[in-house]
Amino acid sequence: MQYFFNTWGSLEKKLLRARHILLCADFDGTITPIKPRPKEAKLGEGIRLLLRKISKRRPFIVGIISGRALKDIEEKVGVKGLIFAGNHGLEIAYKKKNFIYPAAKRYVPLISQIARSLKKRLAPFSGAILEEKNLSLSLHYRLVKREKLPRLKEIFFRIIRPYLAAQKIKLTYGKKVWEVRPPIEWDKGRAVLWLTQRLGPGRAFTIYIGDDATDEDAFRAVNKIGGISIRVGRKRGSSARYYLRNTKDAQRFFRRIGSLKK
Ligand SMILES: [Mg+2]
Repeated sequence: MQYFFNTWGSLEKKLLRARHILLCADFDGTITPIKPRPKEAKLGEGIRLLLRKISKRRPFIVGIISGRALKDIEEKVGVKGLIFAGNHGLEIAYKKKNFIYPAAKRYVPLISQIARSLKKRLAPFSGAILEEKNLSLSLHYRLVKREKLPRLKEIFFRIIRPYLAAQKIKLTYGKKVWEVRPPIEWDKGRAVLWLTQRLGPGRAFTIYIGDDATDEDAFRAVNKIGGISIRVGRKRGSSARYYLRNTKDAQRFFRRIGSLKK
Protein backbone atom coordinates (compact mmCIF):
# COMPACT_ATOMS: atom_id res chain seq x y z
CA MET A 1 0.00 0.00 0.00
CA GLN A 2 1.35 3.39 -0.92
CA TYR A 3 0.45 6.68 0.62
CA PHE A 4 -1.84 8.32 -1.90
CA PHE A 5 -0.21 11.73 -1.94
CA ASN A 6 3.20 10.24 -2.68
CA THR A 7 1.99 9.28 -6.13
CA TRP A 8 -0.33 12.15 -6.79
CA GLY A 9 1.84 13.56 -9.60
CA SER A 10 1.55 10.54 -11.89
CA LEU A 11 -2.10 10.01 -11.06
CA GLU A 12 -2.89 13.59 -11.84
CA LYS A 13 -1.72 13.11 -15.42
CA LYS A 14 -3.84 10.00 -15.78
CA LEU A 15 -6.90 11.82 -14.49
CA LEU A 16 -6.41 14.72 -16.84
CA ARG A 17 -6.47 12.36 -19.82
CA ALA A 18 -9.66 10.54 -18.81
CA ARG A 19 -12.88 11.11 -20.64
CA HIS A 20 -15.09 10.23 -17.70
CA ILE A 21 -14.01 9.79 -14.13
CA LEU A 22 -16.31 7.83 -11.91
CA LEU A 23 -15.39 8.86 -8.41
CA CYS A 24 -17.02 6.57 -5.85
CA ALA A 25 -16.79 6.86 -2.11
CA ASP A 26 -18.16 5.06 0.88
CA PHE A 27 -19.78 7.21 3.57
CA ASP A 28 -19.14 6.18 7.21
CA GLY A 29 -15.46 6.21 8.08
CA THR A 30 -14.56 7.54 4.65
CA ILE A 31 -16.05 10.96 4.03
CA THR A 32 -17.31 11.32 7.58
CA PRO A 33 -15.98 9.96 10.88
CA ILE A 34 -17.72 6.91 12.37
CA LYS A 35 -20.01 7.89 15.21
CA PRO A 36 -21.07 5.66 18.14
CA ARG A 37 -24.63 5.65 16.83
CA PRO A 38 -25.12 5.51 13.04
CA LYS A 39 -27.85 8.15 13.28
CA GLU A 40 -25.37 10.66 14.68
CA ALA A 41 -23.11 10.64 11.61
CA LYS A 42 -23.29 13.98 9.91
CA LEU A 43 -21.54 15.09 6.75
CA GLY A 44 -19.36 18.18 7.23
CA GLU A 45 -20.29 21.24 5.20
CA GLY A 46 -16.79 21.40 3.70
CA ILE A 47 -16.92 17.95 2.15
CA ARG A 48 -20.53 18.51 1.06
CA LEU A 49 -19.53 21.60 -0.89
CA LEU A 50 -16.61 19.72 -2.43
CA LEU A 51 -18.82 16.84 -3.56
CA ARG A 52 -21.23 19.32 -5.12
CA LYS A 53 -18.41 21.21 -6.83
CA ILE A 54 -16.73 18.09 -8.21
CA SER A 55 -19.98 16.54 -9.42
CA LYS A 56 -20.72 19.63 -11.50
CA ARG A 57 -17.39 19.49 -13.27
CA ARG A 58 -16.57 17.45 -16.30
CA PRO A 59 -15.31 14.75 -16.47
CA PHE A 60 -16.49 13.76 -12.99
CA ILE A 61 -19.40 11.64 -11.94
CA VAL A 62 -19.59 11.19 -8.20
CA GLY A 63 -21.13 8.17 -6.51
CA ILE A 64 -21.69 7.40 -2.83
CA ILE A 65 -21.79 3.66 -2.16
CA SER A 66 -22.89 2.75 1.35
CA GLY A 67 -24.16 -0.12 3.44
CA ARG A 68 -26.90 2.19 4.70
CA ALA A 69 -30.36 2.15 3.16
CA LEU A 70 -30.60 4.23 -0.02
CA LYS A 71 -33.01 6.80 1.42
CA ASP A 72 -30.84 7.23 4.50
CA ILE A 73 -27.66 7.81 2.52
CA GLU A 74 -29.37 10.28 0.16
CA GLU A 75 -30.58 12.29 3.13
CA LYS A 76 -27.27 12.18 4.96
CA VAL A 77 -25.34 13.45 1.94
CA GLY A 78 -27.95 15.88 0.68
CA VAL A 79 -26.33 16.72 -2.64
CA LYS A 80 -28.32 16.43 -5.84
CA GLY A 81 -26.89 14.99 -9.03
CA LEU A 82 -24.79 12.27 -7.42
CA ILE A 83 -25.20 8.54 -7.87
CA PHE A 84 -26.36 6.94 -4.64
CA ALA A 85 -26.06 3.26 -3.89
CA GLY A 86 -27.51 1.88 -0.67
CA ASN A 87 -27.42 -1.57 0.90
CA HIS A 88 -23.95 -2.21 -0.59
CA GLY A 89 -25.24 -1.52 -4.08
CA LEU A 90 -28.47 -3.52 -3.98
CA GLU A 91 -30.36 -0.27 -4.55
CA ILE A 92 -29.04 2.49 -6.77
CA ALA A 93 -30.46 5.89 -7.69
CA TYR A 94 -29.19 8.28 -10.33
CA LYS A 95 -30.97 11.07 -12.14
CA LYS A 96 -34.38 10.15 -10.75
CA LYS A 97 -34.00 6.56 -11.86
CA ASN A 98 -34.14 3.92 -9.18
CA PHE A 99 -32.76 0.46 -9.53
CA ILE A 100 -33.19 -2.40 -7.09
CA TYR A 101 -31.27 -5.55 -7.75
CA PRO A 102 -34.17 -7.77 -8.86
CA ALA A 103 -33.36 -10.86 -6.82
CA ALA A 104 -33.05 -8.81 -3.63
CA LYS A 105 -36.69 -7.86 -3.14
CA ARG A 106 -37.88 -11.27 -2.22
CA TYR A 107 -35.61 -11.29 0.82
CA VAL A 108 -37.39 -8.35 2.43
CA PRO A 109 -39.86 -10.47 4.47
CA LEU A 110 -37.11 -12.80 5.66
CA ILE A 111 -34.87 -9.93 6.73
CA SER A 112 -37.71 -8.35 8.67
CA GLN A 113 -38.54 -11.68 10.29
CA ILE A 114 -34.94 -11.98 11.49
CA ALA A 115 -35.06 -8.38 12.69
CA ARG A 116 -38.14 -9.17 14.79
CA SER A 117 -36.47 -12.19 16.40
CA LEU A 118 -33.38 -10.15 17.17
CA LYS A 119 -35.34 -7.25 18.62
CA LYS A 120 -37.05 -9.51 21.13
CA ARG A 121 -33.70 -10.64 22.46
CA LEU A 122 -31.83 -7.35 22.40
CA ALA A 123 -33.51 -5.66 25.36
CA PRO A 124 -30.88 -6.76 27.93
CA PHE A 125 -28.08 -5.31 25.80
CA SER A 126 -28.09 -1.60 26.19
CA GLY A 127 -26.08 -0.05 23.40
CA ALA A 128 -26.86 -2.73 20.81
CA ILE A 129 -28.34 -0.93 17.83
CA LEU A 130 -30.38 -2.76 15.25
CA GLU A 131 -30.47 -0.91 11.94
CA GLU A 132 -33.24 -2.16 9.67
CA LYS A 133 -32.51 -1.37 6.08
CA ASN A 134 -35.25 -3.27 4.31
CA LEU A 135 -32.96 -5.30 2.05
CA SER A 136 -30.51 -6.00 4.87
CA LEU A 137 -29.98 -5.38 8.57
CA SER A 138 -27.05 -4.35 10.71
CA LEU A 139 -26.41 -5.04 14.36
CA HIS A 140 -24.02 -2.44 15.76
CA TYR A 141 -22.27 -3.42 18.98
CA ARG A 142 -19.81 -0.57 19.44
CA LEU A 143 -21.65 0.67 22.54
CA VAL A 144 -22.23 -2.72 24.14
CA LYS A 145 -20.24 -3.30 27.32
CA ARG A 146 -17.32 -5.57 26.72
CA GLU A 147 -18.39 -8.15 29.29
CA LYS A 148 -21.77 -8.47 27.59
CA LEU A 149 -20.38 -9.03 24.11
CA PRO A 150 -19.86 -12.81 24.24
CA ARG A 151 -23.48 -13.28 25.32
CA LEU A 152 -24.74 -10.96 22.58
CA LYS A 153 -22.67 -12.81 20.02
CA GLU A 154 -24.05 -16.12 21.20
CA ILE A 155 -27.65 -14.94 20.89
CA PHE A 156 -27.09 -13.29 17.53
CA PHE A 157 -25.52 -16.39 16.05
CA ARG A 158 -28.11 -18.69 17.55
CA ILE A 159 -30.81 -16.71 15.74
CA ILE A 160 -29.11 -16.45 12.37
CA ARG A 161 -27.35 -19.81 12.22
CA PRO A 162 -30.26 -21.78 10.71
CA TYR A 163 -30.69 -19.18 7.98
CA LEU A 164 -26.97 -19.18 7.29
CA ALA A 165 -26.87 -22.97 7.15
CA ALA A 166 -29.76 -23.01 4.67
CA GLN A 167 -27.99 -20.28 2.65
CA LYS A 168 -30.99 -18.04 2.98
CA ILE A 169 -28.84 -15.13 4.08
CA LYS A 170 -25.20 -14.13 4.13
CA LEU A 171 -23.31 -12.50 6.94
CA THR A 172 -20.65 -9.83 6.60
CA TYR A 173 -18.53 -8.09 9.20
CA GLY A 174 -17.71 -4.42 9.41
CA LYS A 175 -16.30 -2.14 12.06
CA LYS A 176 -18.20 -3.19 15.21
CA VAL A 177 -21.12 -4.36 13.13
CA TRP A 178 -22.60 -7.60 11.85
CA GLU A 179 -24.64 -7.41 8.70
CA VAL A 180 -27.29 -9.82 7.50
CA ARG A 181 -27.68 -9.60 3.75
CA PRO A 182 -29.42 -11.53 0.96
CA PRO A 183 -27.24 -14.41 -0.29
CA ILE A 184 -26.82 -12.73 -3.64
CA GLU A 185 -23.69 -12.40 -5.72
CA TRP A 186 -23.79 -8.65 -5.60
CA ASP A 187 -21.66 -6.31 -3.56
CA LYS A 188 -20.02 -2.88 -3.70
CA GLY A 189 -17.50 -4.19 -6.24
CA ARG A 190 -20.11 -5.47 -8.63
CA ALA A 191 -22.11 -2.27 -8.21
CA VAL A 192 -19.06 -0.17 -9.09
CA LEU A 193 -18.31 -2.30 -12.17
CA TRP A 194 -21.93 -2.04 -13.24
CA LEU A 195 -21.82 1.75 -12.92
CA THR A 196 -18.51 1.93 -14.81
CA GLN A 197 -19.91 -0.15 -17.67
CA ARG A 198 -23.00 2.00 -17.90
CA LEU A 199 -20.79 4.95 -18.77
CA GLY A 200 -19.66 3.09 -21.88
CA PRO A 201 -17.17 0.27 -22.33
CA GLY A 202 -13.62 1.38 -21.60
CA ARG A 203 -14.58 5.01 -21.32
CA ALA A 204 -14.56 5.67 -17.63
CA PHE A 205 -11.68 5.80 -15.25
CA THR A 206 -12.87 4.65 -11.85
CA ILE A 207 -11.69 5.65 -8.40
CA TYR A 208 -13.00 4.01 -5.25
CA ILE A 209 -12.37 5.15 -1.73
CA GLY A 210 -13.55 3.27 1.35
CA ASP A 211 -12.52 2.15 4.81
CA ASP A 212 -14.07 -1.18 5.75
CA ALA A 213 -14.37 -4.88 4.98
CA THR A 214 -17.20 -4.55 2.46
CA ASP A 215 -15.15 -1.99 0.54
CA GLU A 216 -12.57 -4.67 -0.23
CA ASP A 217 -14.87 -6.01 -2.99
CA ALA A 218 -14.80 -2.58 -4.58
CA PHE A 219 -11.02 -2.25 -4.23
CA ARG A 220 -10.51 -5.56 -6.05
CA ALA A 221 -13.02 -4.61 -8.73
CA VAL A 222 -11.39 -1.29 -9.58
CA ASN A 223 -7.91 -2.83 -9.53
CA LYS A 224 -9.09 -5.28 -12.15
CA ILE A 225 -10.18 -2.53 -14.51
CA GLY A 226 -7.11 -0.38 -13.97
CA GLY A 227 -8.73 2.14 -11.67
CA ILE A 228 -7.55 3.55 -8.37
CA SER A 229 -8.40 1.93 -5.04
CA ILE A 230 -7.85 3.94 -1.88
CA ARG A 231 -8.37 2.87 1.70
CA VAL A 232 -8.92 5.37 4.47
CA GLY A 233 -6.59 4.02 7.12
CA ARG A 234 -3.56 1.92 6.29
CA LYS A 235 -4.14 -1.80 6.72
CA ARG A 236 -2.10 -4.86 6.02
CA GLY A 237 -3.88 -7.34 3.79
CA SER A 238 -6.18 -4.78 2.21
CA SER A 239 -6.62 -4.98 -1.56
CA ALA A 240 -6.50 -1.21 -1.88
CA ARG A 241 -3.38 0.04 -3.67
CA TYR A 242 -3.27 3.37 -1.86
CA TYR A 243 -4.20 4.70 1.50
CA LEU A 244 -5.12 7.96 3.13
CA ARG A 245 -4.60 8.42 6.84
CA ASN A 246 -8.07 9.34 8.03
CA THR A 247 -11.28 11.11 7.02
CA LYS A 248 -9.50 14.49 7.23
CA ASP A 249 -6.93 13.24 4.77
CA ALA A 250 -9.80 12.03 2.59
CA GLN A 251 -11.19 15.52 2.59
CA ARG A 252 -7.80 16.78 1.44
CA PHE A 253 -8.04 14.24 -1.41
CA PHE A 254 -11.38 15.69 -2.49
CA ARG A 255 -9.97 19.19 -2.28
CA ARG A 256 -7.11 18.18 -4.61
CA ILE A 257 -9.52 16.56 -7.01
CA GLY A 258 -11.71 19.65 -6.90
CA SER A 259 -8.83 21.90 -7.87
CA LEU A 260 -7.52 19.79 -10.78
CA LYS A 261 -6.87 22.08 -13.69
CA LYS A 262 -7.27 20.98 -17.27
MG1 LIG B 1 -17.31 2.75 5.84
